[in-house]
Amino acid sequence: MAYAYDPQNIFARILRGEIPNSTVLETEHTLAFRDIFPKAPQHVLVIPKGAYVTYDHFFGQASEAEIVDFARTVAKVCEMVGATADAGAMGSRAITNAGEHGVQEVPHFHLHILAGRPLGRMLDMAEAE
Ligand code: AMP
Repeated sequence: MAYAYDPQNIFARILRGEIPNSTVLETEHTLAFRDIFPKAPQHVLVIPKGAYVTYDHFFGQASEAEIVDFARTVAKVCEMVGATADAGAMGSRAITNAGEHGVQEVPHFHLHILAGRPLGRMLDMAEAE
């Protein structure tokens, strides 16, 4: 599969240090930072440092080291911001939008972690625009 990566997208610019971000956690292959327009009391974006457009691109083509690092960073961020769903915790939602139907605004793979309030049902067919 061929994916066209735009190196001028805003998350690529964040990774190059051209735009500031509110970092939650940074590892060798992954960066987690706060969403600039939070949709919940906790809204963190987790991105790989590599040039991947969507989740299918990343999980299909990234190295095992990148994928493991990404997954462990997600788990650490969940612990850090109170987004776990273990006993006594209130849980969270992880979302990744891809492409046109997914209404992806920034074409660099990112996982949204949302927590800190009831998040409602995930999707409703009647809401389709
Ligand atoms: P998506 O629609 O899944 O591509 O989501 C893109 C997200 O990036 C949105 O929730 C935006 O609020 C967020 N965003 C855009 N620019 C920035 C930025 N400079 N820093 C942090 N988050 C951003």
